Amino acid sequence: PAGTAGVRGFGRLGGSRAVPPSDTFDDVAGADRAVAELRDVVDHLRDPARYDRLGALPPRGVLLVGPPGTGKTLIARATAGEAGVPFFSVAGAAFVESLVGVGAARVRDLFEQVRASAPAIVFIDEIDAFGRRRGQGDGGSAEEREQTLNQLLVELDGFTAATGIVVIAATNRPDVLDPALLRPGRFDRHVLVDLPDRAGRARILALHAARRPLDADVDLDQVARRTAGFSGADLAGVLNEAALLAVRAGRAALTAADLSEGIDRVLVGATTPRTAADPQARHLAAARVAARAVVAVVDGRECDRISLHATGPAGIGPEERTASRSRYLAGLRLPAAGIAAELELHGEASTQCEADIEALTTAADIAVRRYGLGPRTGPVRLVGPGGDHLGSLPEDVVLSEQARQRVEEEVRALVDDAIAEAREVLRVHRRTWSELTEAVADRESLEGAALAELLAPVRAPVATPGR
Ligand code: ADP
Repeated sequence: PAGTAGVRGFGRLGGSRAVPPSDTFDDVAGADRAVAELRDVVDHLRDPARYDRLGALPPRGVLLVGPPGTGKTLIARATAGEAGVPFFSVAGAAFVESLVGVGAARVRDLFEQVRASAPAIVFIDEIDAFGRRRGQGDGGSAEEREQTLNQLLVELDGFTAATGIVVIAATNRPDVLDPALLRPGRFDRHVLVDLPDRAGRARILALHAARRPLDADVDLDQVARRTAGFSGADLAGVLNEAALLAVRAGRAALTAADLSEGIDRVLVGATTPRTAADPQARHLAAARVAARAVVAVVDGRECDRISLHATGPAGIGPEERTASRSRYLAGLRLPAAGIAAELELHGEASTQCEADIEALTTAADIAVRRYGLGPRTGPVRLVGPGGDHLGSLPEDVVLSEQARQRVEEEVRALVDDAIAEAREVLRVHRRTWSELTEAVADRESLEGAALAELLAPVRAPVATPGR
């Protein structure tokens, strides 16, 4: 696209002059939080010397995390546009090679070009293509990937405040990235770019509709209501499909019927189902989200924003890692809440609980094997030598058959307890839970005073953590 500098060796036209893109934050709608985070980067690139003079460490790497089509590329380009600096864009896959040394040479080449145009922004889309945790083979040889990754780290570590280069990377899988990439001074800023909620969709639709004539019968709020789960790119697609239909029919403006047909076409063309657009699935999802909020607040946690489209499952927060036994085990109720909600409502859990099941099982497994919190296995560490990343246990643990069986039983018991306790919480606060569910199903995300008011009945006067 215009304003994206050609990058030698990446299949684009080489030698093009690096001109700043024309996009600005005005071209981004419904992603206010992400945009606010990137204003710092703009600030730094407009005047790198100011940071240098004050000895302030500027942001070097920013990781945009979110599903495809949510505007990550657009936001990165607009950041360059706002700062008035050139924008270099490469796909992570462009570094995946089978020949050792080729990927690393490409990284070196890229940054050589970028340094010549600094201040500048480099955008690496789908960085997980080569930035996966070492030892997880897929695509290219392990040694090649490691060299490529190392070269990127060398480049990042070499930036000073005066360099004036910021690398923005995008991924939908931050969990698979090599921890070395996420260390301080590297991609240490994580910016979530979630799917837009109803209000966000209305704003994106309005933005993309601005240069298209709309019939008087078109109600964009209505379109927003019908497109839960759609990304910004999906919504741009809806308007484009509608425009094509209007052109074909020889109409002077897009009609409500064109937009309806546009929604259907995007739904049909989508490779992953947009479940949230289905009212029943959305209601169930809202019940899970509301249940998690109720359980969180009952357990004395903060809950200032909830959303149908929040990225990632409800895991156990870091505060649990320094918790007492009872506090840690009580923490299991959080990932259990969604499952408990479905059991309360329908007597069975749907496949939508996959992420919750994974989070709950992992947390229970860590409780038993690492923290020795199993009631019967006791304070014995049941983890083999191997790696020791927070939040995951090495797969290659060698335990005796009996020990493994006991661990499985303990994990199962903790999981069952957590679900039963979460169900009890939901029964006690059934009314709040159900009001919150309706609100989330309708507005998709809630925060601030509106959320606090709905949750007020469950906010215990005295915090009673643990059980
Ligand atoms: P991603 O990089 O997250 O996959 P893109 O930035 O490539 O998404 O989005 C593709 C297109 O969809 C954008 O160029 C823009 O037209 C539209 N789009 C996506 N998100 C937004 C948004 N928040 N505001 C306005 N347009 C958007």
